[in-house]
Amino acid sequence: MQRIPLLAGNWKMFTTLAEAVDLARAIADHPLPADRQVMLAPSAPALHAVAEVLRDTDIALAAQNVCWEDKGAFTGEISPLMLKEAGATMAIVGHSERRQIFAETDELVNKRLTGALQAGITPILCIGETLTEREAGSTMTTLENQLRQGLAHVNLIRGDELVVAYEPVWAIGTGKTASAAQAQEAHGFCRSVLADIFDKAIAQQIRILYGGSVNPANVDELMAEADVDGALVGGAALKAETFLPIINFKTQ
Ligand code: PEP
Repeated sequence: MQRIPLLAGNWKMFTTLAEAVDLARAIADHPLPADRQVMLAPSAPALHAVAEVLRDTDIALAAQNVCWEDKGAFTGEISPLMLKEAGATMAIVGHSERRQIFAETDELVNKRLTGALQAGITPILCIGETLTEREAGSTMTTLENQLRQGLAHVNLIRGDELVVAYEPVWAIGTGKTASAAQAQEAHGFCRSVLADIFDKAIAQQIRILYGGSVNPANVDELMAEADVDGALVGGAALKAETFLPIINFKTQ
């Protein structure tokens, strides 16, 4: 199975409702290449309105996080069923901002991911090393631990039920990007761990996105790497002028 490149915009806690609708419209109004998939992740209160804009397009809608329970006393959380009702078909889990600012552990990330899968929402599992870990030479250990713990007790029938995003923490929102070679090394390693967790055929189907200061100037080089199957984009996804060229990255 061919891995269809996924260009995903994480709008974080930005945009008013009106800005979210305008941005979604500006992206949806452009003809998108048929050989790739686009996903937008607005803040939760904008999901429903953005879903209306994306209706009748091929652009996927994602939540930025997801709870594991359908309902209950979980103040501040949003259930997979509620997200589906709002129009989301995908959900980011384990973003480094959730891990670092909100102390989300691998165990919690695993619960979120499992809840999403059970509800038929495609999780995007974010993993990535800090600068200290990279400098200490423990990048691959961190990635392997986050994958194994984040995916504990997970069974997949097909690899396209899951997306992984390799996002080096030192590259998120900093303007520093991993080189294409660094990204490929990490992605290739992650795929080998996925092959061990699941099997080789499923690992070949799982899309592994790169995230960390992706912009129109570096996207072509990153996307040219064999195991880079797309991009998770923060800052540059907040303007159509910068996200559209990323969507339209050039294949080699
Ligand atoms: C992100 O939020 O996942 C991200 C990669 O942000 P940025 O593109 O701004 O580095």
